[in-house]
This record gives sequence, structure tokens and C-alpha cells, in this order.
Amino acid sequence: MKIEFYRHNIGEAEIREIVDTLKSTFLTTGPKTALFEKKFSEYLGTQNAIGVMSATAGLFLALKAWNIGPGDEVIVPPMTFIATANAVLHCGATPVFVDVEPETGNIDAEQIEASITPKTKAVLPVHLYGQMVDMRKIRRIADRHGLKILEDSAHTIEGTRDGDRPGQVGDAASFSFYATKNIASGEGGAVVTDDLDLAERLRILRLHGMSKSAADRYHSEYRHWDMEMLGYKENMSDIQASLLLNQLATIEERWERKEKICRYYELEFQRAGIEFPRVLDNSKSARHLFTVWAKRGERDKALGDLQKRGLGVAVNFRAIHLLTYYRERFNYRPGQFPVAEEIGDRTITIPMYPLLTDPEVEYVAKAVVETLGASSV
Ligand SMILES: *Cc1c(COP(=O)(O)O)cnc(C)c1O
Repeated sequence: MKIEFYRHNIGEAEIREIVDTLKSTFLTTGPKTALFEKKFSEYLGTQNAIGVMSATAGLFLALKAWNIGPGDEVIVPPMTFIATANAVLHCGATPVFVDVEPETGNIDAEQIEASITPKTKAVLPVHLYGQMVDMRKIRRIADRHGLKILEDSAHTIEGTRDGDRPGQVGDAASFSFYATKNIASGEGGAVVTDDLDLAERLRILRLHGMSKSAADRYHSEYRHWDMEMLGYKENMSDIQASLLLNQLATIEERWERKEKICRYYELEFQRAGIEFPRVLDNSKSARHLFTVWAKRGERDKALGDLQKRGLGVAVNFRAIHLLTYYRERFNYRPGQFPVAEEIGDRTITIPMYPLLTDPEVEYVAKAVVETLGASSV
């Protein structure tokens, strides 16, 4: 059997919607982007959503909107995709790593305060694999020190923790619609926030710093636009929004399927003595990625063995601070963030998505148990 790492959810409804867009006047930011932004903020229970070209752009623009730059520090976990820390570097600020919890791989809120300095301006937690971080605890710390909270929610649309959704406790949250994410338009992203001033700055910053969008200019009498600040070119297009509208409307149905698959994996792997991150009792995981932890020193061989059995696999993620650029620029050494390093050395992501059939799910579980289980070796 051959089981791809991921298969996207674009079907007839998405194809009809994009054809409708192609036959309309608007290809770039227009009515479908506005509709998607409305639906997305409604789904998340936040006041504003701003469509952008990627989650990376969303993170960058939010940091820019807060004037975070050279001389400033932003706290990030080392167990995440490079985009999280790179967005801080793109602003000229410095990412300061704080290690993660061994059970979940999420930033360890208990360790944040020790890393706060007079230069710290924001905390950038990541809701890893679909499970939210302890936002209430981070909010209390941020409030004590006057810090912004920007959530990297690239993995988490459907997740909740203590009843909160991404973007509700932090000042803003950035989402990804990259090809393999929970709703996907190839490339794309959005920022949600309850802060109206921030929302307006983001709308201006995503399009060159222009005071009026193309859509506004089209619908009203001609008015001159102005440039109020130096912005960027990161606005979402109606082509992207067309692909996202129906995926968002049906996201809970697909979540049910993912949850069922994950519960099956968890049961099978527990029985075989295979370790994996735990979903906490007070949390609903968005179930974006399913990862297992190979025994120490056995991960890279296991990756090859699973591939030989036809499974698409990935590593999410090797700890960022040990990647060449970060190591050379900031002089990081192994041992500084031991939990992230251990997860980074042991983690394997296996196929888990709504389109997997029951026989495929059983095949994946069996291959993983035979490769990584207690009785293997
Ligand atoms: C995918 C991902 C991103 C970046 O998303 P883009 O839309 O590709 O910019 C950021 N953070 C995490 C944790 C991701 O997995």
C-alpha cells in the first residue's frame, strides 16, 4: 500500500466557487475575501479577520503594526516551524527561545517569566499540532510585564482550551492556509484580533500602506488614496478566498473524522508502548498533525523503515536553535533547550487526514506498531 503524507480537501464545491470568481470582475482582494474574513472571524468568535498571503506574513505584519524592531526581543518556542522565529528576524528583532513542555511540545508557560528582559515586547506562542498553549497563564504573565501576545495558530483553527479559541485571549493570532494545513488554498493566511486599531493597521500594512483598498475604490465614487505608512504586498486574493469558503463551512465534519482517526491511533500506540504528545483534558485539539516519538537514537532509521512500507512521513520539527543559521548567528549549542531537542530528535509525523479510509488508517497503525512498538528492534 502507498499512503501519501497528505491529501487536500478541494472538491466540487471549491471548484464551482473558484470558477465563479474567475468569471467575475475581481481576482484580487474583493467581495470573496471580505466574505471569507467575515466567516472566519465568526467561526473564531473574534471581531476582525484580515486575509493575507501566508501565516508568516500575518506574524510579520502584526509585529510591524506594534512597531517591534531592532533592539526588541520576542519570546518564541524552539519547537516550531522556522516561520515563527523568522518573522521576528524579518522585523529586525531578536527571538528569545523558551523550552517546551515534555507532554505536549507546547511552550512551557512556567519558564517564560525567567526569560523576560527590559527589551522583551511580545510573546509568540505556537499552538503545536492543533493543541492550544495555556493562554490564560501566558495572558497573566504578559499583563504583568506589559507584553503583547501574538499566537502562531498555523496548526489550530478548530482547537479550544478552557473554552477559549485562538485569538480570543492573545492580542492577535495568525493562521496558515498553506497546501497541507487544515483549510488550504495553496498559499494563504489570516490574522484575527479583537483590537480594531490593530485590524485597521493590518489592512493598511498588507497593501503598501495605502489608505483605501481596490475594492473600496471600485464600489464608490473615485476618491484619491493616500499612503500613510510604509506597507507591504501581502493581501489575500479572491482566488484564494474562493477555495477557503466551503472548506471553512465544512471544517467541523472533517474534524470529527480526524478525531476518530487520532483516537484509534492513540489506543493502538498506547497498547504497543509507543509514546506521543498528550491532548490535555481541558483542551480540544484541532488534530492538525499526528506525531509519535521513536526511541532515542532510532528516529532516522524508523523514518526510512516507514517509507519502505509506503507511508509518507515528515519531521515536525527539529529544534530551530540548532539549525545552521540560528546556531551560527546566535551561537546556540546542544543542551540549551533539552526538551525541544529531545522531541526534535525523536518525532515522526505519520499520515492523518480526513480522506484516509479505514483500511488505510489500520495499515498506518500496524506499520507504526511493527516499526516502533516495544516488541520491535
Ligand atoms: C506552516 C506554518 C507556518 C507558516 O505558514 P505559512 O502560511 O506557510 O507562512 C507558521 N508556523 C507554523 C507552526 C507552521 O506549521
